Amino acid sequence: MEIVGHLIDGKNVTENTATMPLTNPATGIQASELALASAEQTRGAIEAASKAYPSWRATLPVKRAQVMFRFKSLLEEHLTDIGYLIGREHGKIPHDAEGEVRRGIENVEFACFAPEILKGEFSKNVGPGIDSWSEFQPLGVAAGITPFNFPVMVPLWMYPLAIVCGNTFVLKPSEKDPSAALYVAKLAHEAGLPNGVLNVVNGGKEVVDVLLTDPAIKAISFVGSTPVAESVYNKATSEGKRCQALGGAKNHAIIMPDADLPNAVKALTGAAFGSSGERCMAISVAVVVGQQTAKDLVTNLKTEMSGLRVGGPQNNNNDFGPLISAEHKQKVISLIESAEAEGAELVVDGRSPKLSDEDRGFFLGGTLIDKVKPEMTCYRNEIFGPVLCVVHVDNLEKAMELVSEHEYGNGACLFTRDGEAARHFSDNVEAGMVGINVPLPVPVSYHSFGGWKRSMFGDLSAYGPDGVRFYTRRKTITQRWPSHSTKETTRFSFPAS
Ligand code: NAD
Repeated sequence: MEIVGHLIDGKNVTENTATMPLTNPATGIQASELALASAEQTRGAIEAASKAYPSWRATLPVKRAQVMFRFKSLLEEHLTDIGYLIGREHGKIPHDAEGEVRRGIENVEFACFAPEILKGEFSKNVGPGIDSWSEFQPLGVAAGITPFNFPVMVPLWMYPLAIVCGNTFVLKPSEKDPSAALYVAKLAHEAGLPNGVLNVVNGGKEVVDVLLTDPAIKAISFVGSTPVAESVYNKATSEGKRCQALGGAKNHAIIMPDADLPNAVKALTGAAFGSSGERCMAISVAVVVGQQTAKDLVTNLKTEMSGLRVGGPQNNNNDFGPLISAEHKQKVISLIESAEAEGAELVVDGRSPKLSDEDRGFFLGGTLIDKVKPEMTCYRNEIFGPVLCVVHVDNLEKAMELVSEHEYGNGACLFTRDGEAARHFSDNVEAGMVGINVPLPVPVSYHSFGGWKRSMFGDLSAYGPDGVRFYTRRKTITQRWPSHSTKETTRFSFPAS
């Protein structure tokens, strides 16, 4: 059986004692075997990155950017293969998998701007004959720990920018679907990345523990669930490392009585059920303002959902695929059951979806739960499945209170035709990424991605301008070249202009 290994110092490493099976979630059958890196192998990867750092740091930013240009072309050329690998281990349908890769490529495109984004700031004549400038220097070795749900896009949020800023990198992809990330890292080498600049080590907590404690690692980017994000952040910062840790979400969409309902229904259906709801920006709660709006929305959603096509990635006409594992499917089912037991109304039950014969994996159909109350288990927890909860409120203020009081604050959106309501919402809602008539307000690569409250730990968001600041540190240089005729005087007072 194929063994998925590691990429250390430019070499494919498969020999190891421990392995774990990688299951195809659409069939429930083992697809391959994953090598789990030992602590020693992980340290080997960190050492390779440390060794590669001095010469990579000294490589001209324009040369580093040229590697990214070639990397972008290779990613485009291999889009279908990457989509296939994502489908085999994650279950994503090709149209969705390729969409994820395209969003990742946008981050590579941003990294191609390296000479521009690293330009720094210059002030002439801050004193007599004195100039001062700030430059942005790399940190050293950075590490990335990534989740299963975007196996290619999330790593591409991290290392293209880290590397183009002059750092070297160790990536630990999710152990549930690591093959696509490994394949993509090999393409980065084909694009001209020197050995050791980007390393991939596979495994779980044991690998993370080494990354969190090895003094050579200067910065950690984490994306995953909130409990792990919080513990990674606490550990990394206590070890003196810079850390950004992005966590879970419960994204609300507020539907106002004046919203364009047919458009809102289509937008919500895609955002709630696309990728089986396994997106940190998925809409999992619809907050409806007014009883008539709620009635109309639920009726229309039910009709729209009757056309949902659930099945494996072998059919690109399917709307969404399986959940990642049998355990996760069971967790989602328990949350649906809790909603029924706590008094909510199950309008569409996706627990027994219609499937083709080959789809024997971990499928759930779209599920719609109405009359959900904020104290219910299904409302308080992240479900991360194809489940949309509907909450009824009387006005926009009440709807915004719900968003603001929830422990998560990743994304929130409003469907309305009222500009004043939209402005009030975007000014005051407690969430890091806001959509107005846009259901998945994922920032483009030249902005930055990050939630508020317990959806993110750390001060600098992922990628874009915040990403550049995260992977660099400012150095400010003040320089004077006195002329030969200048006579120095000894001064004891603090210099001021
Ligand atoms: P996860 O937290 O289980 O795993 C994420 C990473 O952490 C993996 O690489 C995993 O191996 C590692 N890990 C798991 N347990 C660990 C532990 N105890 N100690 C150290 N490392 C550990 O998350 P997941 O199930 O892979 O991904 C789904 C979660 O990620 C959801 O909560 C989702 O909302 C979140 N997510 C957030 C964003 C965002 O940008 N905020 C993006 C994607 C996913």
